[in-house]
Amino acid sequence: MPEPTSQLDEAAGLEAPVTALEMVGPATAERLKKLGILRVQDLLAHLPIRYEDRTRITALRDLRLGQWALVQGHVEYAEQGRGRRRALVVGLRDASGAIQLRFFHFSPAQAARLARAPRLRCFGGVSQGPYQFEMVHPECVFLGAGSEPPLDDCLTPVYPTTEGLSQRVLRQLVQHAFGLLAAAHDLPAEVLDRWRLPGFAETLTALHRPPPEASLDALVLCAHPARRRLAFEELLAHHLSLKRVRGEIRAQTTAALLAEGGLKARFLSTLPFTLTAAQVRVVAEIEADLAKTAPMLRLLQGDVGSGKTVVAACAALRAIEAGSQAAVMAPTELLAEQHLRGFRSWFEALGIKVGWLGSRLAKSERRAMLSGIAEGTLHLAVGTHALFQDDVRFRRLGLAIVDEQHRFGVQQRLALRDKGRDGEAGIVPHQLIMTATPIPRTLAMTAYADLDVSLIDELPPGRQPVTTVVVPDARRAEVIGRIAHACGEGRQVYWVCTLIEESEALACQAATDTAAALAADLPGVRVGLVHGRMKAEERDRVMGEFRGGSIDLLVATTVIEVGVDVPDASLMIIENAERLGLAQLHQLRGRVGRGTRHSDCVLLYHAPLSELARARLSAIRGTQDGFAIARRDLELRGPGELLGTRQAGLHRLKVADLGRDGDLLTAVEHTGRVLLRRHPECVDAIIRRWLGDALHYGSV
Ligand code: ADP
Ligand code: MG
Repeated sequence: MPEPTSQLDEAAGLEAPVTALEMVGPATAERLKKLGILRVQDLLAHLPIRYEDRTRITALRDLRLGQWALVQGHVEYAEQGRGRRRALVVGLRDASGAIQLRFFHFSPAQAARLARAPRLRCFGGVSQGPYQFEMVHPECVFLGAGSEPPLDDCLTPVYPTTEGLSQRVLRQLVQHAFGLLAAAHDLPAEVLDRWRLPGFAETLTALHRPPPEASLDALVLCAHPARRRLAFEELLAHHLSLKRVRGEIRAQTTAALLAEGGLKARFLSTLPFTLTAAQVRVVAEIEADLAKTAPMLRLLQGDVGSGKTVVAACAALRAIEAGSQAAVMAPTELLAEQHLRGFRSWFEALGIKVGWLGSRLAKSERRAMLSGIAEGTLHLAVGTHALFQDDVRFRRLGLAIVDEQHRFGVQQRLALRDKGRDGEAGIVPHQLIMTATPIPRTLAMTAYADLDVSLIDELPPGRQPVTTVVVPDARRAEVIGRIAHACGEGRQVYWVCTLIEESEALACQAATDTAAALAADLPGVRVGLVHGRMKAEERDRVMGEFRGGSIDLLVATTVIEVGVDVPDASLMIIENAERLGLAQLHQLRGRVGRGTRHSDCVLLYHAPLSELARARLSAIRGTQDGFAIARRDLELRGPGELLGTRQAGLHRLKVADLGRDGDLLTAVEHTGRVLLRRHPECVDAIIRRWLGDALHYGSV
């Protein structure tokens, strides 16, 4: 008996890899991959950039300059060789008027065929020729004397494509995917009705095969209802996948970290300051989570310099006092080293052993660290992504702290969490994620839907505002004079060299050259240099000297962007500031203004400035409020870049744009709840449609 479930086969067909289509061999598959098309249904989310109208014939007299049109007429003449370039010029006439067709590339056979053709149907763009309107290289169909091929019954989509992949092939592939559309999952009727959304098939038809009467202009606008319908579903998929992770994590149990708080009290008494009210509140929120058997999943947000590290230390002490281990992961070697130094100086006085796992660790040292971590003789492990490599096993990881989360992807965060399960307790650790990049609500609901949020909304007392000025690099000499003056007053200075190209080697070279030039220009000023390609010990030594005050001017690449904390530095020069994004500028500037001295930041730019660069520089000069800057950044660049392209889940947005479609999120959130409660089968289908299996969000 034949399988009665062709429905299922068709559904599987949409999820099949594109290679399941007969026309797709390895080369085409490779090209499709460049467009983000891996599965058959990805073809459906590949939306046209524009449309062409071949559904009706325009009379030649009615043509307008710049218009793309389908015309039809008889050939009056075909001549070669007039004009500067060798060209074939064909006269086309219909009952209303005439135009010329111009071809630059043609074979003798094609020329002869055109000359003999009685009638042609052509599609092309209308331009101004020497005597009349013309079409250059139109698509031509030769018409017989009597018969005419039928006109298209829908507008022709033009897709974004890549070299070696023609529109014709793309259209055929989409056509195949369309054949399977009947089996595609749709949102439940109650959701479609509630938000007045068209169904999935209807939506795709409107976008891939719009009827002749559809407006060409409206279709490509992102505000078109069909595009918004897809954006809605895509955001919903991201939201649901993160909610699912959250649900699965919440459903697990972990060890409650119970402690009297003696270690924390001793630690706080050693600090030269008292915690701000915001820090105290946030520590309490974290401790309340840690006391539960549901794993904590908390995002700690606080602007640069708000004092997140001490909060992390309090959380770690709680875990350690409860007999567990804690881990602190930082995105850069430099920041991880700084945390190592900080935590060691804070914790070793309390009898706590702090281990280190960086990427550049001698084999024997690494082995020693690994065994300390595995045996539990090390209570706190600090490191970079080296912390979540396979051979790292904790004896009992109770708390994983991730600093500057925006530098990591969701995947990496999940990988660190998985470390806890290797230990003797076999449980997931509590997680604390820290970021200085304020997450707007729109992002929080998609990329971070799995997290609770704590906010440090207050800076430590006595912070001085940073005065920011924007100066063209033609006035570099003046700026150097200013450095000399500042150093003369005992101030310490950062000079930041920005990436010239996406090459770390070149950036390091530029920093090295700049340091040499500045040292020559500034006799008597002690100049130091740090960049990403230095040996760890060397960099450590230089940072130590800068911190200790024996270096006055530190020339650096953007390696110092995140987390670096030298409170006495009070002047920062950022070279080619126009190359940097707002978030990055804000982070960099956050390196000064940390002490009690008045600080300055000089943004050097190379003229001329683009509109965007001008807007960015004026935004950064105008405010120091990280939230205001993030909002502006979102307006200027869109959210993808706010968190960096490595933010898993965001650069994968195919249709939606969080800046533009952010207003959909209320509906998305509501629908997420409805689906989870009443249509669980739909949740899976929607997540798979938009995220595929690429993201292992669900593999907890
Ligand atoms: P961020 O939130 O950017 O990570 P840090 O944790 O590096 O900030 O803290 C910035 C600086 O502020 C550090 O030098 C830290 O010791 C100091 N600091 C933190 N909390 C306080 C406080 N309550 N009072 C005074 N200084 C503080
Ligand atoms: Mg920090």
